[in-house]
Amino acid sequence: MAKKRVKVGFVGLGLMGAPMAVNLIKAGFPVRVWNRTADKVEPVAAAGADKAPTATDAVRGADFVVVMVADDAAFDSVLFGDVGLSRGLKRGAVLINCSTTSPAMSFRAATALRSISVRYLEAPVMRSVQAAREGQLQMLVGGSREDFAKAEPVLKAMASDIHHVGDVGKAGSLKLACNVLAATMMQAYAEFFVLARKTGVPFETMMEVLRVGPLDSQLYRYAEQVVVNPGGRPTFYLKHMLKDVNLTLDLARQLDVPLPLTAAVRQMLVAAKNLGRGDEDFATILDLMAGWAGVPVRG
Ligand code: NAP
Repeated sequence: MAKKRVKVGFVGLGLMGAPMAVNLIKAGFPVRVWNRTADKVEPVAAAGADKAPTATDAVRGADFVVVMVADDAAFDSVLFGDVGLSRGLKRGAVLINCSTTSPAMSFRAATALRSISVRYLEAPVMRSVQAAREGQLQMLVGGSREDFAKAEPVLKAMASDIHHVGDVGKAGSLKLACNVLAATMMQAYAEFFVLARKTGVPFETMMEVLRVGPLDSQLYRYAEQVVVNPGGRPTFYLKHMLKDVNLTLDLARQLDVPLPLTAAVRQMLVAAKNLGRGDEDFATILDLMAGWAGVPVRG
């Protein structure tokens, strides 16, 4: 693919979207960007992106459009709102939705876009901000093989592990199934942590035992970083984990699948959000549990 001629529109420059857009620029694609909050555009513009006044304008003439926004409501608004990008898409363009949205949203978008001859891929991602910066995201793609093959050079600029999962809906559903693990593992980690803390085992010892043993995981390393680096910027907001768990439980309800652990973790996330922790990293669950257990997180 001759990158100079392949134009990319990018909408949604939050924690994940901004570094993903920068990686597209680094890979040589001309990128035109839009974000609802204008000041988040500046660092991406400084990296070489062209600024657009509206979402419609960001995607005009683009061959590929990447959308990385918070949730179904945001996705619906940036696509179909008054200055929505569906008004600017050219025939034959491929829209790549990297946001974690519901399978139902994907089906609706794919159908609406097909009627204007635009192709749709859902491409939700795993891993977090650091991986987004390094172009090392894991990406689950749903859509036709043909569209996937066409979009691969664009996807490869953002992700290192890319899986074509199946048709539209399949990747989004698998991402929600993965959320069962992400949400329950964080709660399990918090419970391990507070119990071990309360026994008086030194912090370093309990961490080392977990780190070198068979129970470790990348998610626990992520949580540990949040513990040892208090006051760092959140990389995955608790409000988004609650949104994901709600989507996961909705899907489970539609399929008549009981998810008792995930449902219990939802209660924790709702309580944390109502305590004003929605804009903290979702590892803040650990702080909350420490309060309940009467142990300090650090020290
Ligand atoms: P974020 O920092 O909160 O960014 C959300 C983006 O959506 C921002 O650009 C925001 O615009 C935009 N947005 C929200 N509501 C909107 C609306 N009504 N109209 C237009 N734009 C709207 O979130 P993030 O961490 O980048 O996550 C983005 C997506 O990736 C989410 O679906 C999340 O679940 C998923 N994800 C995140 C991670 C992670 O580690 N962070 C990992 C995997 C998947 P403003 O700047 O104006 O608010």
